[in-house]
Amino acid sequence: MLRIAALVLAFALTSPAAHAADAAFQKWLAGVWPEAQQQGVSRATFDRATRDLEPDLSLPDLDLPGRPITGAAQAEFVQTPAEYLKESSFDRLAERGRKLLEQHRATLTKIEQRFGVPPGIVLAIWGRETGYGTAKMPYPAIRALATQAYVGRRKDFFRNEFILALKIVQEGHVSLADMRSSWAGAMGHAQILPSGFYKYAIDLDGDGKRDIWNSVPDALASLANHLKTDGWQAGRRWAYEVRVPKTVDCTIAEPSVTLPLGEWVKRGYVLARARTLDAGEAAEKASLLLPAGLYGPAFLAPKNYFVLKDYNYSDLYVLFVGHLSDRIIDPKPFEQPWGKVTQLKSRDLEAMQKRLTELGIYRDKIDGKAGMLTRAALGAYQKQNGLKVDCWPTSAVLDHMRR
Ligand code: CA
Repeated sequence: MLRIAALVLAFALTSPAAHAADAAFQKWLAGVWPEAQQQGVSRATFDRATRDLEPDLSLPDLDLPGRPITGAAQAEFVQTPAEYLKESSFDRLAERGRKLLEQHRATLTKIEQRFGVPPGIVLAIWGRETGYGTAKMPYPAIRALATQAYVGRRKDFFRNEFILALKIVQEGHVSLADMRSSWAGAMGHAQILPSGFYKYAIDLDGDGKRDIWNSVPDALASLANHLKTDGWQAGRRWAYEVRVPKTVDCTIAEPSVTLPLGEWVKRGYVLARARTLDAGEAAEKASLLLPAGLYGPAFLAPKNYFVLKDYNYSDLYVLFVGHLSDRIIDPKPFEQPWGKVTQLKSRDLEAMQKRLTELGIYRDKIDGKAGMLTRAALGAYQKQNGLKVDCWPTSAVLDHMRR
């Protein structure tokens, strides 16, 4: 199969249409060469990887004149918690995860011993990123990265990734034809970028190659190494679902407000599923997380929550992975169901963030995403204006701001 794919690819790259070279792109490539050379890429590798290369203007997240930016389709930021955290997805992925837990038990045990990251978390990230390696990577990585570096919205970031991808090819970690990726250049079972390969890739199966593309042990150890490097706390949970006191002030649900877990419990936050804390956990600091404002489960988020958030900057991603990790081990849903809230459009959230910034109660990015800080600032606005304080952005609150 791989060989056939490679032949099809080779044909596509050398077909007559591909020779209609984009002069501006060729000029851009020539401009990248000195940097690539400086980073140790040989002329032979550069030529081999960029021969007949053309940008793929159908990719998401490009910044093209006369064309609206096609969204990156980041489900994490356009769906409500109930839509993103679907029970049917958890059932399906957890069931498969339990089988893989048996199948890869030796590898997962070795990974936990070496990196302190438990099997559930490793499996859940694998499941979320590529459906446990079943997702086919749609793009040749070099072409996706070159395109993002040439006309993407984060050109500098991808320019570096493109050059590192050339180095990976040169060093022979993977063949050019097998080096396939997502639209954003993420590769292999755990969706690792070229820079991530150099920072975190591990040869766990001991064959002398760090093969994040084809070796499950290598790919999973690499993602665990990533989490460990970011500060994963061995033996600790990713988060604790809690029932909040009736009088909860949702504006304190943001990362800078922390208390030891034991202190939260003393203040009336009740751990879901009758969970208990050992002494080490009770002393660990955590912040309150209300992903749907007052309309869904609440969580206490310790260090490991934020380590997962570094991996993918979205609360819903972390909740998905964290909950799936629990579900693989113990098939119970969130104790509190997600309420039926609607998600404001990105441009309305941006308008809200701008207004909150003008009022001095929001000091973070204007990105149209209702993250922790946006929700807390919105709650502060509701409080100041005598509105119902629920920390969930709605068009009614936006209308109030516009009056
Ligand atoms: Ca290996």
